[in-house]
Amino acid sequence: MAGVQELSPCSHKTKMEENASLIYGLASCPATSFHEEMVAEFILAYLKDFGLEADRDSFGNIITKYQKGEARDTMALVAHMDHPGLEIIEANGNAPRSNLLGGVRPEYFQKDVSVRIFSGDKVVPGVIKRCTPAQADGLSVLDLETQGQVKVGDFGVWDIDDFQERDGFFHLRAADDLAGCGAALGTLRELSRAGATASVYAVFTRAEEVGLIGATLVAKEGLLPKDTIIVSLESSRELPGAQIGEGPVIRVGDARSTFHPEAERFLLAARDKLIAEDPSIKIQRQLMSGGTCEATAFSVFGYRSTGIAFPLGNYHNMSEGNELKAEYISSKDFDTGISLLVKAAQEAAAPGENTLMQRFITLSDRYRSRMML
Ligand SMILES: [Zn+2]
Repeated sequence: MAGVQELSPCSHKTKMEENASLIYGLASCPATSFHEEMVAEFILAYLKDFGLEADRDSFGNIITKYQKGEARDTMALVAHMDHPGLEIIEANGNAPRSNLLGGVRPEYFQKDVSVRIFSGDKVVPGVIKRCTPAQADGLSVLDLETQGQVKVGDFGVWDIDDFQERDGFFHLRAADDLAGCGAALGTLRELSRAGATASVYAVFTRAEEVGLIGATLVAKEGLLPKDTIIVSLESSRELPGAQIGEGPVIRVGDARSTFHPEAERFLLAARDKLIAEDPSIKIQRQLMSGGTCEATAFSVFGYRSTGIAFPLGNYHNMSEGNELKAEYISSKDFDTGISLLVKAAQEAAAPGENTLMQRFITLSDRYRSRMML
């Protein structure tokens, strides 16, 4: 992972350069479900640079809060630290077996896939030779050949470059969900730098890829006050109406549920304000039905939830020709996402008038007398 001096705010960097180096720092931390420690250390160091204390809950999720002034509503930005990968279940000399953690289709393992296995301080190169798809509720099994000894409980990631920035795109092995973690960190950075009035939690969860586990535990155990507005931050596969480079997507819902209009209202108000300041800014709004996100885990336990998604290419690294490649998002979508969240946090703290209601009132007032019988 990047050294801590890499994380320090640097006055001569533009905001976009700062965002890119934030993503680079996160991307340098390999992780999969249950093995998020390197990402967590990076996040804790970054928060410290902005004077923000963070707690680990009993499950290892990170919860921090930015609080300045009196805020009407409190928001929580939720992102997960893991990404699909593997965990060793039998050491077996140089032919270990592992479980696949997260959703990658079996056809992506028909050809050999190179991996890096993290075993203590060693990085052991290996190749996935075979995939036995999951039965019932179980996990798929991946048979490996490694160039060294590994242990039960070690984890591995695909041997794909951590990060490249090319032609306006961030290419990452794990844009899902390091872009979400980066958006939460970038938002807290901007709020604290501006000393803005707002009340915002950031929650960095574990084990999302195996069933939204960290988020569910936070929601079920009530670790956030019940009136908190939840904003799930995800990268989600590109869909018609939610295209890469056309802006971050205000997420109306996911594959399993429709989100809450009271929560979405702050994002819409923030969008309108940003567009009023700069009409060229791009923000989309769409039902992202490609998967289920952490907003739903909070909704089912009674929280008002909404979400933002960065449209993503090569979802879960699944590229054309059954090859695993880097995921990618637009760097501009990412920068705009942070601007949107900064505004939305301020909007939640001191909501402006409900412009939609105001519009309906003005129109109905105009025709009220004509409507009278
Ligand atoms: Zn995912």
